[in-house]
Amino acid sequence: MTEPTPKHRSTPLDPATVAVWGAEETSMVSGATQVPVVHSVAYGYDDLDEWEAVALGDAPGHIYGRNTNPTVAVFEEKMRLLEHGEAATSAASGMAAISSAIHGVLRPGDRVVSVKDTYGGTSLLFTEFLPALGIEVDLVDTTDHDAIERSIQGGCDLLYLETPTNPTLKILDLSRLIDAGHRAGSAVVVDNTFATPVNQLPLLLGADLVVHSATKFLGGHADALGGVIVGRPDLVEAAFHHREINGAALSPMAAYLLIRGVKTLDLRVERQNSNAAVVSNYLEAHPKVASVNYPGLDSHPKHEIAAQQMAGFGGMLSFALKGGFDAVKTFLPALRLAHRAANLGSVETTVGVPSTTSHVECSAEERLRLGIPEGLVRYSAGIEKVDDLLVDLEQALDLI
Ligand SMILES: *Cc1c(COP(=O)(O)O)cnc(C)c1O
Repeated sequence: MTEPTPKHRSTPLDPATVAVWGAEETSMVSGATQVPVVHSVAYGYDDLDEWEAVALGDAPGHIYGRNTNPTVAVFEEKMRLLEHGEAATSAASGMAAISSAIHGVLRPGDRVVSVKDTYGGTSLLFTEFLPALGIEVDLVDTTDHDAIERSIQGGCDLLYLETPTNPTLKILDLSRLIDAGHRAGSAVVVDNTFATPVNQLPLLLGADLVVHSATKFLGGHADALGGVIVGRPDLVEAAFHHREINGAALSPMAAYLLIRGVKTLDLRVERQNSNAAVVSNYLEAHPKVASVNYPGLDSHPKHEIAAQQMAGFGGMLSFALKGGFDAVKTFLPALRLAHRAANLGSVETTVGVPSTTSHVECSAEERLRLGIPEGLVRYSAGIEKVDDLLVDLEQALDLI
C-alpha cells in the first residue's frame, strides 16, 4: 500500500490514520464514461477565499450535500434540457419538489387556484397545509374551464395545473389556462409526471415551472424516489432555497438511478404510449367494461385538446368494470403480468385502485368528495409485448 501523504504531514502515519486518509486523494475518477455517484456529504477547501466564493455562489463548486451534489447536479441538468427550461433543481420525492415549488412562490394572504383532480398528496397540501398558513385555495371542477378562468379572475398568485390527471385522466387545456393565469399576474406551475417531456412540454406553452415525481416515468424502474423542478430561474431559486433549508435533498444514489432511467425514457415512453393505446381500445370494446379513460380515445371528452398539446397520449389509463368493486376484487388478483402496487410509470405493468394508489392519503369521504369512484382500476402500461398484456387481461376478465 502506498503511504498517503496528506498535505499537512510528511512523516509516516499510524495505521489508524492510514485507514482514514489512505488513497483518498487519488479517488476521483476522471475519464469515467458514466456519472460517478458522489456520496460525499461535504467538499474540502484549502483556500478560504475559494471556499467563501463557492459558498456565496460566486464560483462553481459544492459545499454540503443538503445544498448541492455533483451527481444530483447532472440529473437536474439533464431534466432542464429535456423540459426546455432555463433552470432546474431537485428534491427527495415528487411531493418534496411540489411542496418546495409552491412554498417558493407563495406568501401569507396569497390565493391559489387549482383543480379537484390533482394528485392526492398535492390535494392535501391545498386543503390541509396551505390554509393553515393563511393562503386561500380554490379547487375548481377539473372539467369546467370557464369556472377555472372565473376563479383565476377572482385573484390568483399561483395557478397549479396537472394534466393528464390521476387517476381519471382528465385533460386541461394548458395554453388557454396558462394565458388566463398570466393575464391575472399569476405564476403557473404544471405537474408533468403523467405525460413526461417526451409527450408534453408545458414550459414551451408558457408555464413558469414544471414539476415531476421522478419516481414514476423518469426513473422508470420503481427503484428510486425523486422529484424535479424546471423553469423560471427566480422561481427555481426560491424552490431550491425552500428545499435546502427544509432539507428534502435528492440522494446521490437515487440521482444516479434516475440518470440511468432517463437515458431510456424516450424508448420506454414510446412503447408505453402504444401499449396503453392498444389496451384502451381493447378494453373499450369489451362487454364487461363500463368505461375507459384514456386521452388517446376518440371517446375522451378532451381528446382534441390532448391531441393538440401532447406528442403522445401517455402510458396511463383507467377503467370501470360493469360489475363494480366486486368485479374488481376478482379481476385484479387474477392478472399475472402486473404488479398490484401504489406506483406507476415503471417498465412493469402496474395496476391499482385509487384507495391504494393515487389517493391512498385521502379518506373514503375525501375521495368521494373529489369524485373518484372506488371501483375504478388504474392501469400503468409497462414495456411488455402488448399481445401478452391483452391475453392476460382477457383471462382475468373471463373470471368475472
Ligand atoms: C406520484 C405522484 C406525485 C408524488 O410523487 P412522489 O415521488 O410519490 O412524492 C405527484 N404527482 C403525481 C402526478 C404523481 O403521480
